[in-house]
Parts: sequence; structure tokens; C-alpha cells
Amino acid sequence: MTCQKPYHKHLLFKLFLLFCVLAPSPVAAGVRVAVSIAPIHSLVASVMAGASQPDLIVRQNVSPHNYQLTPSKALQLSRTDLVIWIGEDFERALGKVIRTLPKKITRLALDAAGCAVFEEGRDLHIWLNPVLAICLVRKIRTVLVRLDGEHADLYRENARLLIARLTMLDHELATQLAPLKGKKYLVFHDAYTRFEKHYGLKSAGFFRLTPERLSGARHIARLRRKIARAEISCIFTEPGFIPAQVRGIIRETGLRSGVLDPLGARLKPGPALYFQLMRNLARNLRGCLMARKRSNKKADPGFPASAFSRYFACLVTDQ
Ligand SMILES: [Zn+2]
Repeated sequence: MTCQKPYHKHLLFKLFLLFCVLAPSPVAAGVRVAVSIAPIHSLVASVMAGASQPDLIVRQNVSPHNYQLTPSKALQLSRTDLVIWIGEDFERALGKVIRTLPKKITRLALDAAGCAVFEEGRDLHIWLNPVLAICLVRKIRTVLVRLDGEHADLYRENARLLIARLTMLDHELATQLAPLKGKKYLVFHDAYTRFEKHYGLKSAGFFRLTPERLSGARHIARLRRKIARAEISCIFTEPGFIPAQVRGIIRETGLRSGVLDPLGARLKPGPALYFQLMRNLARNLRGCLMARKRSNKKADPGFPASAFSRYFACLVTDQ
């Protein structure tokens, strides 16, 4: 009996070592990924489907341009393996936190990924062009495959399927948006040049450079002159951003209004969000720009579509 005890100890020790080797380490269980904004999070979630789920950093109801990270989110960020974001010029406040993260955390700044050409003006809402989104998906896939080789085949296959779906989405949107070429409208903030350039559209102006930055009186006066010259057929606001100034102009001019949501502010985060967001943009542009024309200031009370749009304008502006 006395000689069995050491043997047992030895066996238990061996079993313990075997358990240590076989037990999955946190990294082997999948990479921990944090993504700044909902549309990019959606693309990443599609590539990672079946492996693990990425975290979304910026709350959807706030502007990412000026988002201040809560201490709990900053802590969560420091425990990830990979942070995917647009970049410092787009998410200024987030940049300060990302710069202080431990060196071992991989950063993927999509503005520097080589997908988009940044001409003067630098519109960083790059996901709004599906062809650029396809390029972003390839970059995301490459980094995930490098960090998490165990799921490499899954990431490659998910990315391949996603790219095929994005290509189909692009054709679908091109068909839907083709009749809108030459239409003039105003957007709330300067977020849509990537989308517009790709689909041959062009807004006549924006109210604000970023949602939180107020425009000067001269800029607003210029927009008012454009409206007065009857060059504008629709004003688009954004969810959560309908300042009194824009509300006043919509009421005063009797122009049709619609809502464009470049971030998916009201959508459920996940793989479907990107597709819903893009289809909503096309549907809402069509809804406002293809409605029957009515003259500025003088609404046609008998026409149901204009009554509906007035009601809709009240709904969106009275929030
Ligand atoms: Zn923006």
C-alpha cells in the first residue's frame, strides 16, 4: 500500500498536465474582437459567424465622430485581441483611448487599409460604397486569419459568401437608384459622398459637416437660397438629429423630408444590419425623391402622397 501512494500522485500529476494541454486557452477559443461602429461591426460579425461574436464599441444612438468611451468600455477594449475602427480622423475621441492600449492588441484602422482613395475633403464614411465594403471585408478576413489560424477556413468561406452577397446588393441598389440621377436634395451631414459618387447621385449640400458641429449663418443662408431657387426637392434628416433650424426650414418651405441613417442607429446589431442599412438608404431616397413633385411653400392638400409626407415630416421633426 505504501508504494501505491507515490504512483497515484504521479498519475494525477500526469492527468493534470494532460488537462492543461487539452484545455482550450482563451486565445484558442477565438479572438476577442471589438469594432467601433455598427455597419463595420456587421461586416465583421458576418466574417466571424460560427467562431465568435465581435463587440460593438460605439453606442448606436450617438455620433461616432465625438464618442467618449465609458470606463467600462475602455476596460473591455483593453482585454481584446483586435480593435477594428475607421481611424483617428473619423473617431477622434476613440483615437485617444486606442493609442493608450497595450501593444499586443492588434489595431486595424480601415482608413489606412488602402481601400479608398482619399481626395480633398476626405469622406471617411467608406462603408457606404459596397465596393469599398468588399475591399474592407478582404482586409478584415486577412487580419482574422492571421490572428486566429484555427478558424482560418471558416473566415475565408464566410468572407467569400459575404463578398458574393455584397456584389448582389450593389447591383440591386444600382438598379433602384438609377432613376434618381440628377435629383437635387439636401442631407443633414456630410456623410454620403462615397455612396453618391458610386451610384451617380449628388446632393446639393449638407447642413452640417458632422452631426454635432453647428454651421455658420452664411452656410445656412446659402442653403436657403438654393431652396428658394426651387433647386431642391427633398431634405433628409438623420435619426436623432433634427435640430430646430432644419425643422424650421422644412416647415417654412413645405419641402418633402425623409430620413437617411448612415450608421444603422435604429437597427439591431449583427450580420444583417449592413444590408438593412444600405437598403433603407435606397428606399428612403426613392421614397422622398420619386414622390410626386409639389411646389415649394404651397402644398397640395388634395393629394394623399403629399398629405402623407407632411404627416411624415411632422413625425420626424417633432421627435
Ligand atoms: Zn458622419
